[in-house]
Amino acid sequence: MSAVLTEEQRALQETAAAYLASHANARESRDGDQALWQGIAELGWAAVIVPEAFGGLGLGLAEAAVLLEESGRQLSRSPLFASVVLAHPLLVRCATDPACRRLLPAMAEGRCTATVIAGPGLSPFVAAAGLDIQARRDGDGWVLDGLAGQVLDGDTADMALVVARLAEGGMGLFEVAAGLAGVTCNPLEAWDLTRPQAGWQLDGVRLAAEARLDSPGALDDGLCGALAATAVLLAAEQVGGAARCIELTVAYTRERQQFGRPVASFQAVKHRCAQMMVHLESARSALGSALAASSGAALDEIAVARVQAAEAYRFCAAEAIQLHGGVGFTWEYDPQLHFKRAQWGRQWFGTPDAWRAAVADSVLGQTPDTRHHGAQHAEAPAPAVDEQAFRAEVADWMARHLSGRFEVLRHRGGPGDETAHSQLRREWEQVMASGGWIGLGWPRAHGGRELPVSLQVAFHEEYARAGGPGRMGHIGETLLAPTLIDFGTPEQQQRFLPGIREGTAFWCQGYSEPGAGSDLAAIRTRCWLEGGQWHLQGQKVWTSLAHESEWIFVIARSTPGSVGREGLSFLLVPLDQPGVEIRPIRQLTGEAEFNEVFFDDACTAAECIVGAPGEGWKVAMALLGYERGLSTLGQQMHFSHELQLLVDAARARAVDRDPAIRRRIADAWIGLRTLRANALRIFARGEAAAGPEALVYKYAWSNWHRDLGELAMDVMGTAGDLQAQDDPLRRLQQVFFFSRADTIYAGTNEIQLNLIAERGLGMPRG
Ligand SMILES: Cc1cc2nc3c(=O)[nH]c(=O)nc-3n(C[C@H](O)[C@H](O)[C@H](O)COP(=O)(O)OP(=O)(O)OC[C@H]3O[C@@H](n4cnc5c(N)ncnc54)[C@H](O)[C@@H]3O)c2cc1C
Repeated sequence: MSAVLTEEQRALQETAAAYLASHANARESRDGDQALWQGIAELGWAAVIVPEAFGGLGLGLAEAAVLLEESGRQLSRSPLFASVVLAHPLLVRCATDPACRRLLPAMAEGRCTATVIAGPGLSPFVAAAGLDIQARRDGDGWVLDGLAGQVLDGDTADMALVVARLAEGGMGLFEVAAGLAGVTCNPLEAWDLTRPQAGWQLDGVRLAAEARLDSPGALDDGLCGALAATAVLLAAEQVGGAARCIELTVAYTRERQQFGRPVASFQAVKHRCAQMMVHLESARSALGSALAASSGAALDEIAVARVQAAEAYRFCAAEAIQLHGGVGFTWEYDPQLHFKRAQWGRQWFGTPDAWRAAVADSVLGQTPDTRHHGAQHAEAPAPAVDEQAFRAEVADWMARHLSGRFEVLRHRGGPGDETAHSQLRREWEQVMASGGWIGLGWPRAHGGRELPVSLQVAFHEEYARAGGPGRMGHIGETLLAPTLIDFGTPEQQQRFLPGIREGTAFWCQGYSEPGAGSDLAAIRTRCWLEGGQWHLQGQKVWTSLAHESEWIFVIARSTPGSVGREGLSFLLVPLDQPGVEIRPIRQLTGEAEFNEVFFDDACTAAECIVGAPGEGWKVAMALLGYERGLSTLGQQMHFSHELQLLVDAARARAVDRDPAIRRRIADAWIGLRTLRANALRIFARGEAAAGPEALVYKYAWSNWHRDLGELAMDVMGTAGDLQAQDDPLRRLQQVFFFSRADTIYAGTNEIQLNLIAERGLGMPRG
């Protein structure tokens, strides 16, 4: 749900899961399950978002989202969605105080249910002209006319809250009881039986003056805000549905045997389940972020959650059908119900494409045919005062120091550009150190600043915003240092951490070998202790920045005859010695950032081993955990600069009005916000690499970056054929070419999907 559930939210989730599962049978019956709604009311859930002043519990959207996720998981059929999630927020935001006092207490107790009529599909982007019902004055009262073709829960709701177009101009909110003279309700045959609909025909329906509920001017912003809040809760329901599709599919494929083994053990099946999980966790991260922001009017965050959840649910439901085989196509099995619910959810509360268009407007500016009246780009909530001051401090420091002879480094040295100004970037590391910007998260005992995650994030963002260059010292700072802090001896910490913190010692990573890539445990480089030193014989390959480094950390086989993960040791080895030869390898980009490293009786001191001899695998894997977690955050902040360059290039080449390009840019922007939400979720949990969001993160960011590169080349058109010398084209070309490596290093896409399936979903190894 949100980043991390509170204890109360977790208790609510457990109760909801147990209760709703016990009523799962009634979801297809036209009458629904009266007992289910009765129980929901008794448990107080009908009151969840109603303020205490009106007889409710006054809890937030986050608690409602917990309920919705569980009801989505169980495909519950009850007034929870239309009445609690749709009608209550509309009343709370738009109705007068007396109207709320009159209506909400009975609704909060579940004695009265409501639905909403506010234009086709209940889009938050609705304008008065798009409403189905018209209202005109009739003495003190009103007369309503019109046809609302599809009303959610329209066949069972006791009343509708009708947003009508006023004959005198503008909109009004009216209470219309289902049995009123002139109201005809026609139940409809919906494909999704769990979400019933009915048509409401209003013919000269006369209403007393107090049936008009809205406070003056409240609907102008309130309607969009209320429907957007419902869109977030719909996203929660879709996250629950997507999660259930994965559970059903993993359980079925583990059970089902073909070719003498569970189909869950076939890699093709595992990878598809893993991709379902990537979609689900992306949607869950985006939802958490929207819930955190939804007290403000952050429509951007809502758009991200809405698009990610709608796409995740349909993807997972469709994959669930496919991976169930023939039974997936039957009425009897649940995937079809989810598929229909997922399709339903795309069409209401603004389609994913309508939200994408709103994002495109906010990122690229509006086009003449844009029709997003209600939705405005909203600034993110202001950061806390401490954080604001810290950001200002970083920005000021960067402005003062990334100047003079360092000015040339602005935005340089990123992926595909690693060889740019390498000597000057080494010096820059020392400038960074003098400002105290290296080791921000390290414990104070090791010379770090022990800053909270929020400030570390703020630093990376401000650094990227100021055009801070690609870091030469990142391997030492973000990979080796945490490893030494967790596994090193006090002597090793005292010896090696200061050089990293002061920006004077540069490290590279010696894992891969010609015969050991994805299968890292196939390492053959040998090491042995002799004459008070470790000796090394063998070869590493693809070693990034070895030619710029003083030291390399290496895993090598210390137990003769050992195989696999046993008998390996983790050594710290100086590169400047006769037994080491470094040969740069030219890459697809034309640069030579990685190298072959040959050890021919190379040596290092006996005490330069981290962990015990033969137990290097544990240390090496812990280091990879840091690689897949925190350390990618700084890199992600550069992505946002690249996206901005792409937007600039689209404008400069006048393709920013092309609907296909706008849609892809909106998706890129949504994807980047999702990555950020995902990273923040990792950090909020407090144990990097522990949760499902950490497991999917590498796969998600590397594929996002690769797609960005492809979009960039399509934006450039034929100009992309030629090697550009200047930004933005030059940088975007680098993104396109270098991002092919993103899905290879630090665990290829295929290996990531294996890990997600096996560790995240418990699927069997092939
Ligand atoms: C730019 C760049 C920088 C790098 N920097 C470093 C560095 O600093 N230090 C370092 O040690 N290494 C580094 N690497 C190496 C990187 O970690 C390896 O390239 C990666 O682990 C893959 O190994 P491989 O190249 O041997 O490919 P292989 O393992 O041979 O894989 C070839 C193909 O087979 C697939 N495959 C392999 N096994 C499986 C399986 N079980 N299931 C499904 N598919 C499979 C792979 O996904 C891939 O598509 C770098 C690589 C790149 C591209």
